[in-house]
Amino acid sequence: MKKFKVGIIGAGIQGVCSALFLQKKGYQIVLFDRDEPGSESASYGNAGHFSPYASIPLNRPDILTDVPAMLLSSTGPLALKWNYVPKMIPWFLKFVKNCSTKNMMHTAKYMHQILDLALPAYDELFDEIDLTGLIENKGIMYIWNDQNLKSRELEIKIRDEIGAEQQLLNKEEIHDLEPNIKKVYHAGVFYKQARHAKNPGKIWVKLFENFIKKGGKFLRLDIKDLNFDNDKPVIRSEAQRFIFDKLVIACGAFSKKLTDKLYENIPLDTERGYHIHFKDCDHLISRPVVFQNRGFGITPMEQGLRVVGTVEFGGLKNKISKDRIKNLVNNAKFLLDDLPEHEDEWLGFRPTLPDYLPVIGPSKNYKNVFYSFGHHHLGWTLGAISGKIISKMISEEKINLELDPYSSLRFS
Ligand SMILES: Cc1cc2nc3c(=O)[nH]c(=O)nc-3n(C[C@H](O)[C@H](O)[C@H](O)COP(=O)(O)OP(=O)(O)OC[C@H]3O[C@@H](n4cnc5c(N)ncnc54)[C@H](O)[C@@H]3O)c2cc1C
Repeated sequence: MKKFKVGIIGAGIQGVCSALFLQKKGYQIVLFDRDEPGSESASYGNAGHFSPYASIPLNRPDILTDVPAMLLSSTGPLALKWNYVPKMIPWFLKFVKNCSTKNMMHTAKYMHQILDLALPAYDELFDEIDLTGLIENKGIMYIWNDQNLKSRELEIKIRDEIGAEQQLLNKEEIHDLEPNIKKVYHAGVFYKQARHAKNPGKIWVKLFENFIKKGGKFLRLDIKDLNFDNDKPVIRSEAQRFIFDKLVIACGAFSKKLTDKLYENIPLDTERGYHIHFKDCDHLISRPVVFQNRGFGITPMEQGLRVVGTVEFGGLKNKISKDRIKNLVNNAKFLLDDLPEHEDEWLGFRPTLPDYLPVIGPSKNYKNVFYSFGHHHLGWTLGAISGKIISKMISEEKINLELDPYSSLRFS
């Protein structure tokens, strides 16, 4: 079979994993990114959870009643940049439409389909690199107090229905697992099979280095435009032009700039999220802990204790919000005593569609262009499986999965 030349725009976790799976099939790959892999994007600063259990989406009926209280609370996860609200209204309207029980269950079912395959797909990539000390298999714990108990009960019920493994925890069991967490909780749930990254940026770079070692090419360029030469995608930076047999767009939250040029109006937007580090405090917990009432989490990492959270609707251009940093500091202190001054204030962009399913598949109008973006809160977990699916689509192999739910056609 003739092996095509494939270009991939975006060297985040999605782009790099697609590149590695395509290389396994013998394709020649050129990866483009405006930044060095491992730098500031979402694939660097996330909470490091590999969470195969996390199929319950944010588009759910109960969230609509919780939103006003969340917006008014300074300890809550939700925030708005008011200058961006008018731009976001079409996205919000689509989101509200997707909050029906039927649509929530549709998303949960098809997130579960790929989440269930997420860890084995990573193992195929991790087997080729040395990740000593960078991945822990100690599970992930969620805790809560009895406020919003109905939402917690709904999640537990749906996870049972779709077959996601979970273990409910009482107060004593939580304390046994994480004795340094203050007893502000009433109950929790433990996902034993989940893993966490001690440094997502470093793992991402190791995957990228393996791509280069296996003959992959990387060009640090900002891709501004694309068009076609006899069906073949042509991509352009300010000064250069490249032609490929097939092209993958994997630019995370920035993908819409390019898909708009392909005459597809995909309603991709961003949920901005933040992290800070408390240096030398990672020993306080053994595994990631998420406090659900306030929508934030703490992960023990190489950089220290990483505190991660916030869903801020504010687009790609607004600056970092100091209020949101304060929210993370206060929330961390709510769970742990004696924390020092924090370091490293980081803002990242989750790429999110209003139905909380990613777009994985061919472009509507151009058969040689493929998309892999929109993985919202789960793009770190879903890197390898999405890359594997893209590689099979490009090589026209049979895939034993229902793939229509991830198609961009759902927005036509
Ligand atoms: C605070 C926070 C916490 C998170 N925690 C988790 C978690 O614990 N577990 C989990 O599974 N997921 C988590 N996520 C989500 C996850 O990090 C993202 O979904 C994932 O990293 C997206 O990967 P990506 O490759 O699609 O995008 P990105 O990582 O954003 O990479 C896109 C790349 O494309 C490049 N690019 C963009 N436009 C162009 C262009 N025109 N030309 C050239 N290059 C371009 C960018 O420079 C970037 O390197 C979290 C996200 C945030 C923000």
